[in-house]
Amino acid sequence: MNVEKILTDLEKKHPGEVEYLQAVREVLETIEDVYNENPKYEANGIIERLVEPDRILTFKVPWTDDNDKVHVNIGYRVQFNGAIGPYKGGIRFHPSVNLSILKFLGFEQIFKNSLTSLPMGGGKGGSDFDPKGKSDREVMRFCQSFMLELWKIIGPETDVPAGDIGVGAREIGYMYGMYKKLAQEHTGVLTGKGLNWGGSLVRPEATGFGGVYFVDHMLKTKNIDIKGKTVSCSGFGNVAWGAALKATELGAKVVAISGPDGYVYDEAGISGEKINYMLDLRSSNQDIVAPYAQKFPGSKFVAGKKPWEVKVDIALPCATQNELNGEDAATLIKNGVICVGEISNMGCTPEAIEAFQKAKILFAPGKAVNAGGVATSGLEMSQNSLKLSWTREEVDVRLKQIMENIHVACVKYGKQADGYINYVKGANIAGFLKVADAMVDQGVV
Ligand code: NDP
Repeated sequence: MNVEKILTDLEKKHPGEVEYLQAVREVLETIEDVYNENPKYEANGIIERLVEPDRILTFKVPWTDDNDKVHVNIGYRVQFNGAIGPYKGGIRFHPSVNLSILKFLGFEQIFKNSLTSLPMGGGKGGSDFDPKGKSDREVMRFCQSFMLELWKIIGPETDVPAGDIGVGAREIGYMYGMYKKLAQEHTGVLTGKGLNWGGSLVRPEATGFGGVYFVDHMLKTKNIDIKGKTVSCSGFGNVAWGAALKATELGAKVVAISGPDGYVYDEAGISGEKINYMLDLRSSNQDIVAPYAQKFPGSKFVAGKKPWEVKVDIALPCATQNELNGEDAATLIKNGVICVGEISNMGCTPEAIEAFQKAKILFAPGKAVNAGGVATSGLEMSQNSLKLSWTREEVDVRLKQIMENIHVACVKYGKQADGYINYVKGANIAGFLKVADAMVDQGVV
């Protein structure tokens, strides 16, 4: 495999798709050796077939606001690779959404889903619609219009979307309602459903919980106890919430959390009612963190800055792609960070990853650290098929086991001669092998 040539060709075909090309580069550079050691992959054109999505659906989403004004957004579904199961991956509603971002997310999802060991292919979808500041009725009308197109290509055995940025229980509910009406069936076609209509316990917290379970395994490779360690998180969405809850439960102290207006530093720890308050702030539709500092004396709000300048033991990017850059990494390293777990997808830039690896800091990529979200979606699918609901403990035990297995796989393929674990390499190789072998077995399709 000639990585540079493949990337140059891809760039010519898809100019300007920066995030997608970044994600492909990261994977190809780390699987090059195993790829070249197995001539069957080259003979079956695995890379050429893997880097292009199976299909992409793009559609217009017209909707009316509460003042009867018409708006039009763009909707997408990228069905990337279905070698090991139905396409599976979230739907993102955010003004920044474009095809490059959804292709990067769908590409990453292939390897992440493979790592979970559950039968799920990779996909992703979304729209440039911004739910922020919209009324429930506006969000409902948008979701219904979105589903009027999407339902044609999804189904419990073909493509099972879930939530992501801007898509939580409310949006899943509205989309599911419209799907059910159109398809005339009550099946597990979306995950992240409400508990009383097919959802799974632990799903809302699963990405953050799984992320912290994974970080705990990383620390254990160095005999470090998570108890008493300080933590910073970016964002205060669904993922940051679950991570803050679990980190606190395991005895760590979350001292920083951020929003689009800056970050909050709270030396006493952001736990209990303070986490609930963050949720209140979020649901108030303002999406800012500044009021936290007024509410809880002793904490301070730092306007317009990222939380990475705070001295902590563990940093958890939980917001969006490329949110931690080389400069942020240098600051964290200078301040003695021990471990960085990307819970957002591709949260760190390539420069940041290189800096962490060079400094031999424990660093693991989103496709391993945040796989607990999709894994629990897979568990929701299993419960839907069985027409059963597992208890919170049953789901949590499975989630813990899956995160442990992913960690073992990363160590197996990522441990270097000097003992340092390259989790990026480990996750990519482990995820790739299963999908590539399935593609070889199934012929050129
Ligand atoms: P939420 O919408 O609940 O929260 C996202 C947070 O990130 C918000 O604080 C949001 O602020 C901020 N954010 C989003 N986009 C940007 C941007 N372009 N620039 C700066 N800040 C941004 O999303 P989730 O918590 O569900 O997702 C967070 C991350 O975790 C994403 O990378 C997602 O792909 C990943 N992930 C999520 C899973 C899940 O189960 N939900 C599963 C696996 C991964 P604002 O709204 O102001 O932009």
